[in-house]
Amino acid sequence: MSARRLQAVIESVAASDGAGVKLRRSLGSTPSRRFDPFLMLDEFFSDDPDDYIAGFPSHPHRGFETVTYMLDGRMRHEDSFGHVGEIGPGGVQWMTAARGIIHSEMPLQSEGRMRGFQLWINLPSREKMKPAAYREIPPGEIPIAALAGGGDARVIAGTLRQGSVDVSGPMAGLSADPQYYDLRLPPGAAVTIPTAAAHNVFLYVYEGEAVVGDDARALPLRSAGLLTPGDEVRIVAGAAGAGLLLLGGNPIGERVAQYGPFVMNTPEEIQQAIRDYQQGVLAAG
Ligand code: MN
Repeated sequence: MSARRLQAVIESVAASDGAGVKLRRSLGSTPSRRFDPFLMLDEFFSDDPDDYIAGFPSHPHRGFETVTYMLDGRMRHEDSFGHVGEIGPGGVQWMTAARGIIHSEMPLQSEGRMRGFQLWINLPSREKMKPAAYREIPPGEIPIAALAGGGDARVIAGTLRQGSVDVSGPMAGLSADPQYYDLRLPPGAAVTIPTAAAHNVFLYVYEGEAVVGDDARALPLRSAGLLTPGDEVRIVAGAAGAGLLLLGGNPIGERVAQYGPFVMNTPEEIQQAIRDYQQGVLAAG
């Protein structure tokens, strides 16, 4: 086994998206801060309705997947294919925009805490123009795996092995072969998480603090830690414990052209996406 280490830390920066939702953006805060196949990771976290109440009114996507994972609060999704859904604490919405979808994501609350994540996963060129798809995963469909070193993991995608026990998340069959784990570690817990050797893997600490790798580098709160290659990673929680996401996926290795919510391979394909949206055919068929 070869152990992964931290190779770079991307601190999150304050950003605003949708109609003015305040969030923290780590991956994707600049074009150079991507980690193939991952384009962006946003954390939205506020007790102040002014930070989230405006939501994300109707907007398009083409060329990739968006994954929303809620910790607190509720959002309502509606899209151009007639999907309507509510996502609440512990729930996931996995939307494959592919050739095009127009959707809105609006808060279903006017007070209290709203907290969650949105991850963008790129699609390879051969899949960018396939039909859009949408899946809602309620919390009861997300298995929880006990970790040998303490704590547990919600397995949203991928298969997590601890000892001789495999726990598989509900999302499977995607070309990125993603691992998406939410790790909850009590103070001082030391865990080893297997990772596919072909994957790019990063961590994002949303609570407490964690030390990563056998060289014990600290990964600060609200930062993404990109890992070196390897087939496992060792994580030790700080004195207050840690909550962190582990995200892994097969790199695509293609050119990326991005204009806001459109992510293609070339500027010409971006121009086509803009034209299709303006002509009302982005999300057709
Ligand atoms: Mn969206």
